[in-house]
Amino acid sequence: MIDLDRQDIMFLPGVGPQRAKFLGDELQIHTLHDLLYTFPYKHIDRTRLYYIHELTADMPYVQIRGQILSFETEGEGRKRRLIAHFTDGQSMLDLIWFNGIKYIASHYKVRTDYIVFGRPSVFNDKIKIVHPDVEPADELRLNAMGMQPYYTTTEKMKRAGLTSRSMEHFTTTLFKLIDFTIPETLPSYLIESLNLVSLDQALRHVHYPTCAEDLRKAQFRLKFEELFYIQLNIIRYARDRRQKYRGFVFTRVGELFHEFYEKNLPFQLTEAQKRVIREIRQDMGSGRQMNRLLQGDVGSGKTLVALMTMLIALDNGFQACIMAPTEILAEQHYATFQKMLFGLPIGVSLLTGNVKGKRRKDVLQGLEQGCVQILVGTHAVLEDTVVFKSLGMVVVDEQHRFGVAQRARLWGKNVNPPHVLVMTATPIPRTLAMTLYGDLDVSVIDELPPGRKPIQTLHQFENRRESLYRGMRAQLREGRQIYVVYPLIKESEKMDIKNLEDGYEQLCHDLPECKISKVHGKMTSAEKDAEMQAFISGETQILVATTVIEVGVNVPNASVMVIENAERFGLPQLHQMRGRVGRGAEQSYCILVTKYQMSAETRKRIQIMTETNYGFEIAEADLKLRGPGDLEGTQQSGVSFTLRLANLARDGQILQLARETAEKVLDEDPYGAAERNRILWKQLNKLKRSTVNWGAIS
Ligand code: ADP
Ligand code: MG
Repeated sequence: MIDLDRQDIMFLPGVGPQRAKFLGDELQIHTLHDLLYTFPYKHIDRTRLYYIHELTADMPYVQIRGQILSFETEGEGRKRRLIAHFTDGQSMLDLIWFNGIKYIASHYKVRTDYIVFGRPSVFNDKIKIVHPDVEPADELRLNAMGMQPYYTTTEKMKRAGLTSRSMEHFTTTLFKLIDFTIPETLPSYLIESLNLVSLDQALRHVHYPTCAEDLRKAQFRLKFEELFYIQLNIIRYARDRRQKYRGFVFTRVGELFHEFYEKNLPFQLTEAQKRVIREIRQDMGSGRQMNRLLQGDVGSGKTLVALMTMLIALDNGFQACIMAPTEILAEQHYATFQKMLFGLPIGVSLLTGNVKGKRRKDVLQGLEQGCVQILVGTHAVLEDTVVFKSLGMVVVDEQHRFGVAQRARLWGKNVNPPHVLVMTATPIPRTLAMTLYGDLDVSVIDELPPGRKPIQTLHQFENRRESLYRGMRAQLREGRQIYVVYPLIKESEKMDIKNLEDGYEQLCHDLPECKISKVHGKMTSAEKDAEMQAFISGETQILVATTVIEVGVNVPNASVMVIENAERFGLPQLHQMRGRVGRGAEQSYCILVTKYQMSAETRKRIQIMTETNYGFEIAEADLKLRGPGDLEGTQQSGVSFTLRLANLARDGQILQLARETAEKVLDEDPYGAAERNRILWKQLNKLKRSTVNWGAIS
């Protein structure tokens, strides 16, 4: 039996040193095992010819035999497309090309036998095939190849003559070499109970299935395994942590909480807020350390939940701390808390980079002595000089702005780690949350405070500014305030600031009757603060800013959010910024301004934004548009991993099954003692060793 893990790809017949170098450099294929796990991205079903009337949108690539009756072009500019009206002698099918129109129209002849390969999809409500391959019909080639795999190759490889076809030769040769059963990597009782195919069969069929159903089963098994081991790792780690750390037991819901609730709470809690506070109370009284993620759309009232949670810590004789990602936000929380806690005997202090000298000394001393009971701050609270008397509860606001390491440092602020509540308004789709934050419990506020009118989102081309200004003037006359936001990224910082300055000048010129604040990253924090405060206090009516206001700011009188160059923002960012308005009782608006020329993806994003206000829907759409690797929050979370086959946007159900199975395995065999699970731990350790990033998942 050859050792697939160790055998160098170079020695596979037909490869050799030169090609091995390409395979290694371009596709990270170094061993036979790597080649075995380099899966085709598609198959063409060459086993049979399909009839047009059989086609459905969920089919893999199929082949149809027939003739083109005529060509036609539709649309203009970027939307121009070539349509070939194609028939198999019984029904008609449109073949569509967006590129290479000239070549195709002149190259293919009407009323000639062709074989068309492609994947049926729904386009304008009808089954069509977009960008099919068209080959002259050649009886001899039919049926000869079964389901033919197609492999990804790079430009460099193609130039060196290494195509998908070469990859096909390599895998064929490889399977000829593997004349034994590939050793199983899942316990047989799981394979049986979940009705999975064996690893041997899955690997053979994922490359060379005999039919579409074989392929599906093979992919299911491999996707399941991939997700299962990730879940097993996360859950095992989480259970371990829970055993190791005893949490402070907060059983008292005492005077401060009740006094606040009865005297100071300015409004009724929403049902969702009540539910979440109950969940948190339960956690904190359970004797295990709480580690909870609170997700709630922008404006759903997370700050209040944080405050009430902290009061429970205080009632039990502990201190609490909330950390926010920006100074502006920390200051705002501080002001809110002071206002809300008015009249209650609670020491609240602020600690940011701006708090210096004697003031800082006083805060630090107060923390050590315990008379500062609630600390509000930025990452300044992480410094070693910040020592608490007895920290029992930590809240991290807008947690996606902090790294894992920063969060971990808060744990070290007491001998026993404090309870931790991390809050985010960047909603994370369930499937991703389960993978990224598998060891966090999740609470969700899925309800906005009453009386909010849904924000109306409109799209405006930048060359139609007059009507934009008309709308803005109308709102200003009503006494409302307006945000105008510009993108700012490092690579084009100069240009971006110039854009903002130009926009500011133009607004000053076109709306001379109103006062305008301006905030961007190149200003000192004192300057930023002054401008921000002028807007918050209502002294200025318009705030022109870069994305510094993306997070957290609360100005209920602001009713319009104008987002310039909206095409340059991702969906989560757009949604976050939109959430800055709609906080008062007035109808609010979000105006997305774009160039006239938009890419298909921009158009899709704008459409989603104008159609829904619901953060989770937007997050799901974002995951589908961009793929999970790119998703906002994943980089910062410090977790990175690659999935070879599974797709978090599409394989939610398999993920769910993988998670439940991993939980069951650990319930039944918590210490990994069972003989039947031995294969599991062996495989888990092997994966951890072979994938550099894997360890980071826990
Ligand atoms: P976010 O969840 O985005 O952090 P905030 O905590 O800033 O939202 O709350 C947004 C606004 O809603 C604040 O002005 C807050 O005072 C208000 N608010 C919070 N809870 C309620 C409630 N139950 N009823 C009415 N207004 C509320
Ligand atoms: Mg907030």
